Amino acid sequence: MKAVRFHKHGSLDVLTYEDAPDPKIAANEVLVQVKTCALNHLDIWLRMGVRSWKLEMPHIVGSDISGVVAEVGSLVTRVKTGDRVLLCPGISCGQCEQCFKGLDSACRNYTLFGVMVDGGYAEYVKSPEMNVIPIPGDLSFDEAAAVPLVFITAWHMLFTRARLQPGEDVLVVGAGSGVGSAAVQIAKLVGCRVIAVAGTDEKIEKARALGADAGINHAKQSIAAEVARITDKRGVDVIVEHVGEAVWEACFESLATYGRLVTCGTTSGEEVKLNLRIMYGRQRSLLGSFMGGKGELTDALKFIGQRRLKAVIDSAFPLQDAVAAHRKMESRNFFGKILLHP
Ligand SMILES: [Zn+2]
Repeated sequence: MKAVRFHKHGSLDVLTYEDAPDPKIAANEVLVQVKTCALNHLDIWLRMGVRSWKLEMPHIVGSDISGVVAEVGSLVTRVKTGDRVLLCPGISCGQCEQCFKGLDSACRNYTLFGVMVDGGYAEYVKSPEMNVIPIPGDLSFDEAAAVPLVFITAWHMLFTRARLQPGEDVLVVGAGSGVGSAAVQIAKLVGCRVIAVAGTDEKIEKARALGADAGINHAKQSIAAEVARITDKRGVDVIVEHVGEAVWEACFESLATYGRLVTCGTTSGEEVKLNLRIMYGRQRSLLGSFMGGKGELTDALKFIGQRRLKAVIDSAFPLQDAVAAHRKMESRNFFGKILLHP
């Protein structure tokens, strides 16, 4: 098959479109012909090798995959050849204490497509049957591939970690990202007031089109001052963020009493200063969040299938142009998911 692989970590030029061996499935696995694979910032971290994962080389990244079942193993009973499917990006053992609780990402054997197993920058990918989910409703392959990672992440952040309640005020930092555009919609779905933070007016307009009630352009406005103005100095109940260091002080200052800040990333840096007295005095919570469970994806997919939540798509590239797709993601000049078509 054709695939985009890298043989060593590095900048854009390590991505190589080339022949790779066809995946061989085990009895409990499914072979999927990839129709669309969506990019995540994770792909760039993996390519550059800045995280602690030791990858086998050459390596194929790509965690958000949709396609058609091409072959099933002898023990597979739930899906059949020809089914239109998407893959749940998180792979877990399915039979440990954490997996039984639906806390897949806390499984000791947890990984993602494109991390410890090959991902979707290829014509074919193999998957455990457990990860194969029929595409709901009349969703296209592009729409289906744009959903999983960001909606699992946003769902887990807002409901499982931050215990979001109807009517609360929610600040979404990085509203132009995949997780951000999912979080804006999910918070609106349960009747929250949403303030979107982004770096351009264009991104804020797009966040408003997804339902955001107010916007803050952090390039020319103070996040904390705007939150204080919009909430009449009360602060927001929940902050969803993955920017880290650069927005930390503004975010902490913007939390209401009993406010919860939930983070799933540190794109600007990971070291911050924390005033514990204010934290306990205002009874605030700081929450870490990482991916989520298959059940959270299927919960989100009910609304996606009914088109009450939607995957936001920026652009699509042929697989052989993966370099251009990565360049676009690195430029930060996009809104929603960037897709690859093998
Ligand atoms: Zn497990």
